[in-house]
Amino acid sequence: MAFLRMPGIKVPHRKHTAAMAPIRIPAPEEVCIPLSMHIGAPAVPTVKINDKVKVGQVIAQAGNGLSVPVHASVSGTVKRFEEMNTASNKTVTAVVIQSDGLMELSEDIAVPDVTDLESFVDAVKQAGIVGLGGAAFPTWVKLNIKDASKVEEIVLNGAECEPYITSDTRTFFDRGDELVYGVETLIKYYSPKKVIIAIENNKQEAIKTARKLFAGNDKVFVQVLPSVYPQGGEKVLIYSATKKIVPEGKLPIDVGVIAINVTTVAAIARYLKTGQPLTEKCVTVDGSAVKEPKNLIVPIGTRIRDVIENAGGYKCDPAKIIMGGPMMGHTMPDENHPVMKGTNAIIALDGRDGAVPEETPCINCGSCIQRCPLRLDPPGFGKAYEMKNPEELEKLKVNLCMECGVCAYVCPAKRHLVQRNRLAKNMLREYKAKEGKNGKA
Ligand code: SF4
Ligand code: SF4
Repeated sequence: MAFLRMPGIKVPHRKHTAAMAPIRIPAPEEVCIPLSMHIGAPAVPTVKINDKVKVGQVIAQAGNGLSVPVHASVSGTVKRFEEMNTASNKTVTAVVIQSDGLMELSEDIAVPDVTDLESFVDAVKQAGIVGLGGAAFPTWVKLNIKDASKVEEIVLNGAECEPYITSDTRTFFDRGDELVYGVETLIKYYSPKKVIIAIENNKQEAIKTARKLFAGNDKVFVQVLPSVYPQGGEKVLIYSATKKIVPEGKLPIDVGVIAINVTTVAAIARYLKTGQPLTEKCVTVDGSAVKEPKNLIVPIGTRIRDVIENAGGYKCDPAKIIMGGPMMGHTMPDENHPVMKGTNAIIALDGRDGAVPEETPCINCGSCIQRCPLRLDPPGFGKAYEMKNPEELEKLKVNLCMECGVCAYVCPAKRHLVQRNRLAKNMLREYKAKEGKNGKA
């Protein structure tokens, strides 16, 4: 079993937008909504070209198994279906809707009838909710626990350990009622011994707010964690908050834990209270190339260029645009890419901050292995990848890599380790899929 340890590394916080309440942008001219914004099977379209749609209307049903439905985020007309590459280099179909500018709500929106655990899990699925901290794992699958008595702790992830991003922090300030309702609902259906709200110690205002919100609830504890990266990684957070280690190949529930992001809990509450599914995201827009860094509430499917325009545009040519944080986010090739369900930030960097350092040969210093929270072997992954050796990648457990970027951050040779780790993970995934088809798995 890979060894999990803390502390991680100190990274600059750059939480410039923490005190900025999010502003809802006007409806963009069009949105481009991918049918696969989650881990698992793509959703299946239920609309056709020229259909009129309204906000919250289902435009694609959940696919088989691990999947969620997708809803219109603006009112308007379905113009076309578009093939697009996601940040993780998958080709997916997207529905392009031309907005009528009215943001009319669908008549289908209705408060769900939730009476027990089963109907609660189904409601979370119908809301189209996925892990909003960036993981985009369908939340209903995580909550679909047949034996709720297994749940000992529910850990709310409010760590937000990546530089720049403050959208989860804003949830404590702006969506307190929803957060409380969401936590009370989780307590009602899972009866955990305790709920731990985990926040890093560099977010004192969020800590104070969370303590006020849950004062008097003797099941809820606000736990202050050191601000070290990657504190918000799911297994890292569970260890920090409960001292439980999720064994390799196991899920948090196998050690009695549900870990869930704070904004995801607020989204669940909104659906339960109002019937409004997930159609918009609070996105932190920041970085040295952005004129007016701020938090914006944008319809899902809004293209990067429209988001940036609502943050005053660029103050210089951006050298790099990242969807997500600078540690775990993906560099975008252009501004056409849309905001997806898991998008929590768009960071545009100038030539100095966004320069890609030239890599030099590995000097075998071992820093990357020593500082990896899972003690993985990134140089070993690179060698096995170059040798096209998926069996070796499997032995080295490349699949456990959470792409946190710590190895690349500490590497004195500036090796592009995370990119190679991603390629190596893909190689192993393809090899396993082929093995499965050949009946070996
Ligand atoms: S990105 Fe690097 S440090 Fe992070 S888990 Fe993967 S190998 Fe370890
Ligand atoms: S930190 Fe960089 S130079 Fe050192 S062993 Fe790892 S890859 Fe090589």
